[in-house]
Amino acid sequence: ALFPLSDAFIPVAQGVEEWHTYSDSVKRLNNLKSEEDHLPTQEKLAPNAAKLLQLKHVSFTYPGEKEAIIKDFSLTLTKGQKAALIGPSGAGKSTILQLVLGDLKPDAGSIELNGINVRALQDERAQLYSVLNQEPFLFNTTIYENLQMANPKATTDEMMSVLDKVQLGDYIRSLPDGLNTAVQEAGARFSGGQKQRLALARVLLQDTPIVLLDEPTVGLDPLTEQKLLNLVFAVLKDKTVIWITHHLQGMKFIDQVLFFKDGVVEMEGNPHTLFKENKQFHQLYLMDQGLL
Ligand code: ADP
Ligand code: MG
Repeated sequence: ALFPLSDAFIPVAQGVEEWHTYSDSVKRLNNLKSEEDHLPTQEKLAPNAAKLLQLKHVSFTYPGEKEAIIKDFSLTLTKGQKAALIGPSGAGKSTILQLVLGDLKPDAGSIELNGINVRALQDERAQLYSVLNQEPFLFNTTIYENLQMANPKATTDEMMSVLDKVQLGDYIRSLPDGLNTAVQEAGARFSGGQKQRLALARVLLQDTPIVLLDEPTVGLDPLTEQKLLNLVFAVLKDKTVIWITHHLQGMKFIDQVLFFKDGVVEMEGNPHTLFKENKQFHQLYLMDQGLL
């Protein structure tokens, strides 16, 4: 890996109460900045109409911090396009996803879907975005119910199919209770990476135009990772995707790769073009493949 990862801490909710505490803390953070919000009167956006995601000159500073963590960041994705964000821990990658979701409000610049401020689209949020957080949230119930909450219409066959794609199918079939195993029980044997992939399976069961993935392949060996990426990106073919990753595996699926450092994009472009034309990218690529 180009950038070593800290051990992912993956909380498992003990119940609804803990979930509320979690979402409340997110809301509190929002409210710190919501007073100066002047959102347009509620505009609606149908999921299938979401065709343009645009971040223009976005800057963001966490409340109480002096320095902006995101500085003059721009990114335009049309429907189906995919961006990869790469950079060291603390660079501000996960913060970008929170800004795109409208959970955080930029100090400057704009974040719009089809020209509508994303913070004015919170009612449609579940229809517009599927998200895999870096610290995914699993409910303290069965694997089946965790998947069913993502898509109440999903059949067990569809569940097993996405679990196979995220390379968890064999493991879950090997459990005596299969899909009906409690996440907590499997927990003793479920690694952080496996929980992350269960959360990725949930994302694959949702059908939204925009998909945000924060390091979905933590802890996988390169061959399994490649297999997973091939299967997952096939499902996400027509989706607009922002994918946070720690290295260069899977760049063939990506239209734009952006390298972050200290809140600033140091290098960006189409990975194929960069590979041919940019010496720094070429070297990073060889390093990532263990060839340099
Ligand atoms: P990355 O995902 O690239 O590792 P993050 O976006 O998570 O980076 O964090 C960027 C920086 O912002 C880090 O230095 C982190 O400590 C800081 N940060 C993250 N969340 C908060 C917060 N709620 N309040 C203050 N600082 C934060
Ligand atoms: Mg992060």
